[in-house]
Amino acid sequence: STPAVMLSAMAAAARAGVLFKSSAALDALAGVQTVAFDKTGTLTQAKMTVTRVVAADEGAALSLAAGLEGHSEHPIAQAVVTAARERGAAPEHVQDAQAVPGQGITALDSHGQRVWAGNVRLAGHEGASLSAQQEAALAALNAQGSSSVIVGRGRQVVGLMGVADALRPGIADALRDLRSSGIAHPVMLTGDRREVAQTVAADLGLTEFRAELLPEDKLRIIGELPGPVAMVGDGVNDAPALARADLGVAVASGTDVAIESADVVLMQNDLGKLAGAVRLARAARRTVI
Ligand code: ADP
Ligand code: MG
Repeated sequence: STPAVMLSAMAAAARAGVLFKSSAALDALAGVQTVAFDKTGTLTQAKMTVTRVVAADEGAALSLAAGLEGHSEHPIAQAVVTAARERGAAPEHVQDAQAVPGQGITALDSHGQRVWAGNVRLAGHEGASLSAQQEAALAALNAQGSSSVIVGRGRQVVGLMGVADALRPGIADALRDLRSSGIAHPVMLTGDRREVAQTVAADLGLTEFRAELLPEDKLRIIGELPGPVAMVGDGVNDAPALARADLGVAVASGTDVAIESADVVLMQNDLGKLAGAVRLARAARRTVI
């Protein structure tokens, strides 16, 4: 049975908003060496806003993008749907929408032609290529730390959008606290572009990051990092890595599948509570042993 000291540490953690699903999870946290963080929705708020539309016909680009993103639960999708509504662009009707995890979404338009919205990788898979001008606009957005969405019909790029996201308040402090609690390796894992990741990592004082990752890349990297490894995430794309990590930590604002795959849930989405939980877990382990 679970030692009383573990139960009381779990209760104390729960009062602080850190919900351990088991005493084994609490014990695992005590030994963690590396913490891997997803970027979008974990280090950032995932309250994204479209800041720029680059298209010959902005309304058409927004309509198509909103038609597609209306079928997606990615945080980028909400931003695109809202931007279209605010600018009076009615979502285009699309069918057979399919999410492509870590890349975007594809569907068929009313003529049965393929339409898509997502990142450079998805554009590549769809056989579309960006003009020099579009490349330059994308690079400028990404260098500011903005993510981007490319929207296309068949092999044609209809437009691209810059999507800004704010860091969670207090996140730089939370990472600093975690370091001072003895977690040697915080590392950011993201499906976003390298340039975006670099800007965000620099803002957070994080020296280690991996970018342009597919869900299976995140999973593999979790197995390669110096262990024991905790993974903190929110997305469908994080679920395999959360399950694979020695300790999966989900933010409560995350998707159901992330929360189900995790061993710990941060109830107020507050990563600042992690360092305290590490200290609690270590104190409990010392007392039990
Ligand atoms: P992260 O690892 O930072 O949480 P994801 O793996 O969820 O990011 O997504 C990786 C990238 O895939 C995003 O940065 C975006 O470029 C693209 N993407 C995923 N889903 C969508 C979508 N519905 N619309 C547009 N782009 C998307
Ligand atoms: Mg995410």
